[in-house]
Amino acid sequence: MSKLDENITRAMAYMSSFREGGVMNHIDGRSVPAISGETYDTVSPVDLSVLAQVARGAEADIDAAVAAAKAAFPAWSKTPGADRRKILIKVAEAIEERAEEIAFTECMDTGQALRFMSKAAIRGAANFRFFADQAPTAEDGAVTRTPTQMNTTSRRPIGPVGVITPWNTPFMLATWKIAPALAAGCTVVHKPAEFSPMTAKLLVEIAESAGLPKGALNVVNGFGEDAGKRLTEHPDIKAIAFVGESRTGSMIMAQGAKTLKRVHFELGGKNPVIVFNDADLDRAVDAATFMIYSLNGERCTSSSRLLVQETIYDEFTARVADVAKRIKVGHPLDPETVVGPLIHPEHEEKVLSYFRKAREEGATIAAGGVKVGDGGCYVAPTLFTQANNRMAIAQEEIFGPVLTAIPFADEDEALRLANDVQYGLTAYIWTNDLNRAMRMTDNLEAGMMWVNSENIRHLPTPFGGVKASGIGRDGGDWSFDFYMETVNVSFPRAIHSIPKLGG
Ligand code: NAD
Repeated sequence: MSKLDENITRAMAYMSSFREGGVMNHIDGRSVPAISGETYDTVSPVDLSVLAQVARGAEADIDAAVAAAKAAFPAWSKTPGADRRKILIKVAEAIEERAEEIAFTECMDTGQALRFMSKAAIRGAANFRFFADQAPTAEDGAVTRTPTQMNTTSRRPIGPVGVITPWNTPFMLATWKIAPALAAGCTVVHKPAEFSPMTAKLLVEIAESAGLPKGALNVVNGFGEDAGKRLTEHPDIKAIAFVGESRTGSMIMAQGAKTLKRVHFELGGKNPVIVFNDADLDRAVDAATFMIYSLNGERCTSSSRLLVQETIYDEFTARVADVAKRIKVGHPLDPETVVGPLIHPEHEEKVLSYFRKAREEGATIAAGGVKVGDGGCYVAPTLFTQANNRMAIAQEEIFGPVLTAIPFADEDEALRLANDVQYGLTAYIWTNDLNRAMRMTDNLEAGMMWVNSENIRHLPTPFGGVKASGIGRDGGDWSFDFYMETVNVSFPRAIHSIPKLGG
């Protein structure tokens, strides 16, 4: 039996409970169908087979989940941080124990290749550990004193919160939001993406088996326009942490306005990788190709615009095209696969439409630009050259293994092109001129920048975007600022005179 066949057999065994019992909602510690009894199919992008029936939650299910989160809030929020920490560390350990099951399930549900997904569960566990360790001090604030007053600030959990996640790396992204919310003392209602619901259900089961009290984390599956919308409008939900498209973020902001919802948005990107002619080109080729062709290019931080100094443009893009052509596209559970199938036929059609647009706009397709295989949502790793910044392929987030290469003459033009998009999530700069790197990073419109490096995440650092790429930051202590309210209490230090009115 080949390694792929062996992995497929294991994946089918892991997913058997979903195939038989469906992907249920999880409310107040119980696995439940949608109140309406409705379901929808979740389809594997590998071969378009139905993996499972998913509970199609809607308003009533969200209301039940919010009621559970609200009921669980007083006890969880008052649980000492050290005790919350212990439980969340156990969750991290339980995730690690089931890392293979999570990875295999995610590969079949999303099409992401195992070589990347095998680390996603471990990253999810790391998120739990990192935020768990901060739970005991999450409430702490500062003391400031005047001659008459002593002011003490502290933080308290904001209340039940809603977490809405996308389909690209669902398990990792869910933990990225849910772990700090729980560590802060909030309770959670999670609405996973409709295209990839399976590992959210695994997460809540793992968390409860590790000791998380029932009702602290609830999961309602369903579509954005009903389940998602109700969550953002519910008066008992105090904040919405959302990861997804910029357009959806804008809708959520409008939906939450009536209840003055606090929002945290991690949205789209059209991130530049900028390569100057003095850079270490071998490393730059590796990093640029890794950042667009890993995770199927379905990655908010992917470097989807390659800006190359014109003196090295032809040589550099030829090298990138060569890598793109050699990348193995295949079954996500094949250990050799780099690019698996895109998440869903609808998304595949969107990506294919950009292949057509590129041709119409007059760009050159230096690699890929075609669908591959029959059955399944497979596309070839693609490079567009001879592009300019006005083209749709340079402005719009394609969210696939598709790179648009644009030449620039000098630093000023590189900066102008890099900033001339609606997004501002990440930027990658390749140069051996330190002063230039400083000038560029001072002026690039991006929330996160890497010099001479691909994206290497360090959890204590802030994660988030500017412009249409987001509002708010995660990581470090920033997540706690979102999930907690800062309050100030003032005590008198001395008997001071109080103004007397009316006499
Ligand atoms: P999406 O916006 O279509 O959906 C995300 C989630 O929002 C889903 O759960 C969906 O059901 C829900 N939703 C849709 N409409 C809603 C509404 N009206 N009210 C409430 N919820 C609603 O995004 P997607 O296609 O699933 O994911 C891809 C996008 O996510 C890309 O734009 C990508 O850049 C972005 N993303 C950003 C980051 C980041 O950190 N900045 C990380 C990963 C993905």
